[in-house]
Amino acid sequence: MCGIAGVFNVANAQNLVANILFSIQHRGQESCGISVRTESGNVLTYKGMGLVKHVLLPQILEKYSGKIAIGHVRYPTAGKSNVVNSQPHSIELAEGAHMSVCSNGDIINYSELRNELETEHGFTFKSDNDGELIGRLIAFHHVVHKKPIAEAIFETQQQLKGAFSTVLIYRDTMYGFRDPHAFRPFSIGHISWDGEGEMPSEGTVFASESCAFGIVGARHVRDLEPGEIVKLEKSKPMSVVKISPKKRQHCVFELIYFSRPDSELFDEYVYDVRNKIGATLARMDNDIPAGDDLVVISVPDSSNFVALGYAEEKKVRFDMGLLRNHYVGRTFTRPDQAQRDEGVRQKFNPLPGFFKGKRVILVDDSIVRGTTLKKIVSMVRGAGAKEIHVRIGSPRVIGSCYYGIDTPTSNELIAAQKSLEEITAYLKADSLKYTPVDAFQSILKHFNRYCFACFNLDYIYQPADFSIPTKRVN
Ligand code: AMP
Repeated sequence: MCGIAGVFNVANAQNLVANILFSIQHRGQESCGISVRTESGNVLTYKGMGLVKHVLLPQILEKYSGKIAIGHVRYPTAGKSNVVNSQPHSIELAEGAHMSVCSNGDIINYSELRNELETEHGFTFKSDNDGELIGRLIAFHHVVHKKPIAEAIFETQQQLKGAFSTVLIYRDTMYGFRDPHAFRPFSIGHISWDGEGEMPSEGTVFASESCAFGIVGARHVRDLEPGEIVKLEKSKPMSVVKISPKKRQHCVFELIYFSRPDSELFDEYVYDVRNKIGATLARMDNDIPAGDDLVVISVPDSSNFVALGYAEEKKVRFDMGLLRNHYVGRTFTRPDQAQRDEGVRQKFNPLPGFFKGKRVILVDDSIVRGTTLKKIVSMVRGAGAKEIHVRIGSPRVIGSCYYGIDTPTSNELIAAQKSLEEITAYLKADSLKYTPVDAFQSILKHFNRYCFACFNLDYIYQPADFSIPTKRVN
């Protein structure tokens, strides 16, 4: 998973991009970068491994200054975690111009398209990252086939299979485009900029998630349509180049887990969906007797709203029995089980005395390998809980995601390997319930617009479409 940002026609756009990236840091913590078009017309790129606040330092942002900027935070799902694979990618065009591109999503016909460019057209690649592939394909149509850049983007969009929410700088213009299924979010904002010493102006802001807009003083205008290409150019309002939609396949896991609760995406408020998931789970639960010893606990922070929705519907006390250390990085992507177990132990701690004699409804957003909940159930039991009933906001994760969410292959997915009873026993929980896929019919405004493939194996692309060398290589 990754996050993208773009700012057009705002003085010191690089500062806003850095701020947007900071507010979508949860989408990628491995590396980050920016590209800026300077006043002299050069496009400069700076990227590094690590968090936004450690890479995009004030002295860097001061040097990389301009009114047109894009940026990226990376969470590797394909290709090694190194600076070469980080984004944006600067691509040289024949006439000496540079284009810079960054993208969120996974391209499932990556190998096929790359091989074609390398073997048939003599292109060379610097990285193994699909953002670079997108840039090189655009360059191919533009330079080799002499297509205007907007048409080159359209041709590229038609060739790519999979998920891509992409921004690019080309000369003094910026483009934003999205795959025809609109797997990943892509929001557009508007900013009235008071000029910092110059004339007042109006700018446009792109971000993976709308939570970034308030933080940089922008207003959320709308989301990019499936298959839409938009163009930003000086002294003109944003124009739509083309829209070529296919069946929507919004990633439901964005709403369940990945996106921030203060974002609005796919025509939903994220926090509201999570609340409704909790309420739905509560309505399915008629077998836990009420009582003063019953308490609903979230696994902070990702399941807070689901737990709140559950508690409100059930009229059971909600409380924060677990504390989370915010300085522990992502444990999910650590390379082996021992390190993941250690990470969970460092991340969560029960409040002393809190759980003694309590019956606990322990709510989490999802179970992937089972690492987090196995540790937490044992922690809560050790802290004195009498009963632990685990409730999960997602359906059972039984299939890998090929569109940008980092899920392991199915032999590591606990729900693909074990029955409900076996998972309950593995977690050492007293009971376990997931939210079934069909329950989302009453939760989501547009149930038929989503990809549920990791829950029901109903992939829009078939095995013949795939040419991905590896799922994830760290
Ligand atoms: P696990 O411990 O393997 O069962 O993973 C489940 C927990 O990790 C969930 O509670 C989520 O909060 C988090 N999670 C789920 N999917 C992902 C993902 N793709 N990347 C990072 N964290 C995730």
